[in-house]
Amino acid sequence: MTTVSERTAAAAAELERLGVGSVSTDPALITKVSSDWSRMSPVLQEKVPPGRYLADVVVRPARPEHVPTVLKVAFEHDVPVTPRGAGTGNYGQATPFDGGILLDLRGLDSITVGDGGTVTAGAGARMTAIDRVARAAGRDIWIFPSTKSSTIGGFVGGGSAGTGTIERGTTSDGYVVAATVAPMDGSGTMVTVRGDELTPFIHTYGVTGILVDVEVRTDPARDWTAVYAAFRSYADLVAVHRSLLDLPRLPRLASADEPALVPTLPAPVALDPTRHSLRVIVEASTVDELADRVRRGGGEVVAVFTDYTETDRLSGMSYNHPVWFLQRAHPDRRFFHMETGGTPLWDDPAAVRAVYPGPVHLHLELFGHGPGAMVVAGYRGEDDVLAGIPRLEALGVGVHSPHQWYVDRNVQIAIETARRTDPKGLLNPGKLTAAPPVDTRVNIGVRS
Ligand SMILES: Cc1cc2nc3c(=O)[nH]c(=O)nc-3n(C[C@H](O)[C@H](O)[C@H](O)COP(=O)(O)OP(=O)(O)OC[C@H]3O[C@@H](n4cnc5c(N)ncnc54)[C@H](O)[C@@H]3O)c2cc1C
Repeated sequence: MTTVSERTAAAAAELERLGVGSVSTDPALITKVSSDWSRMSPVLQEKVPPGRYLADVVVRPARPEHVPTVLKVAFEHDVPVTPRGAGTGNYGQATPFDGGILLDLRGLDSITVGDGGTVTAGAGARMTAIDRVARAAGRDIWIFPSTKSSTIGGFVGGGSAGTGTIERGTTSDGYVVAATVAPMDGSGTMVTVRGDELTPFIHTYGVTGILVDVEVRTDPARDWTAVYAAFRSYADLVAVHRSLLDLPRLPRLASADEPALVPTLPAPVALDPTRHSLRVIVEASTVDELADRVRRGGGEVVAVFTDYTETDRLSGMSYNHPVWFLQRAHPDRRFFHMETGGTPLWDDPAAVRAVYPGPVHLHLELFGHGPGAMVVAGYRGEDDVLAGIPRLEALGVGVHSPHQWYVDRNVQIAIETARRTDPKGLLNPGKLTAAPPVDTRVNIGVRS
């Protein structure tokens, strides 16, 4: 009986002989790419600390056709393969639990704008580069995450929502037109997947196949403006936040924070730490209407930027980022967050806050059907974190836990697909189970 390390060494030797990009056993590189941003979760810090789970080798394909070759060799040697883009996933979902090959896809970074306006990009292309190419061609990609340096393969494989979500939903809502997928079935092939057939490959952490390239939808490019506003009360903030769903053109992003989260935001203007912050990316034609609503709602427009780079900076303060900025500013204190959605976040913030021992802070986002929020509180242990889930649900707040690494969207479809595409269970082992221990399979923000 050989070990995974021995089998991986044999596979790596064959891959080097075949010339499939770079093959590295550099310990520093292995340590770096064997962990991701799971450090945002104090629970995962304890369970998957950097260095506890290590790949045996890092393989970085240089061309699309290298991917099926890597998978064929890995299949023949019974070697696990864990795909990785930029490693910004915060659920530990790119951790190589069983060692083997860490498949670094960043070398596949081609980007093409098609005649129909879609963009096709190699799995390792960064969202920043894709957006730049799309904008130069007069197009806006539908959605990108606040981690704009992440890859399209990682965003579709492990992310969900971001700038553009208010109008265009999540990665599961028609964002992906088609994908080239390499299965782990010994065939050494790639297949093109479209339409409903894409479901098992979106937000399933690569357990059903490796995304080699992805074609995503775009809209005609618009003039986007970054608007900063401040409010004295949560109620005033919420009144404007919810009204944004009635703007003549939906905003691209609308993030909001309580005063406690404001001081650590890296904004281009001084934000008043005693007031609630609202930050919106709106189409230029709706800026006056937004400013009017802010003023009539008792708020103040603090700054308006028409430069596109400033809208990017605003995106960089959305979704999980304010939580991370808080954690970074207070390394001596431990904060955790829950990803949540539902109108009680607007209507009954006191009840939401009461779910955890205080102080509890809310970072709001806007979806097409209501608010989402990162509920942020001091960490007192995993049991305390998990105890809040049923309490939030009892309030009518949907919860997605960022404290576990199991596939939690379309689990059954993924299991059925993986039976065919990964019969030996070698793709990203340990992430797919019929009954994830934390039952939090609510698709926050996904349109139903
Ligand atoms: C501060 C912070 C803010 C964030 N904000 C957002 C946000 O706004 N929206 C959001 O959706 N997420 C957000 N995330 C999570 C993360 O950024 C997204 O999941 C991201 O898009 C992942 O991209 P990546 O290239 O870093 O992928 P990785 O972290 O490398 O991988 C993510 C998952 O996808 C799998 N994978 C990677 N490449 C492929 C491939 N080619 N084929 C199949 N599977 C693959 C990996 O195995 C892993 O399971 C945030 C995280 C942090 C730390």
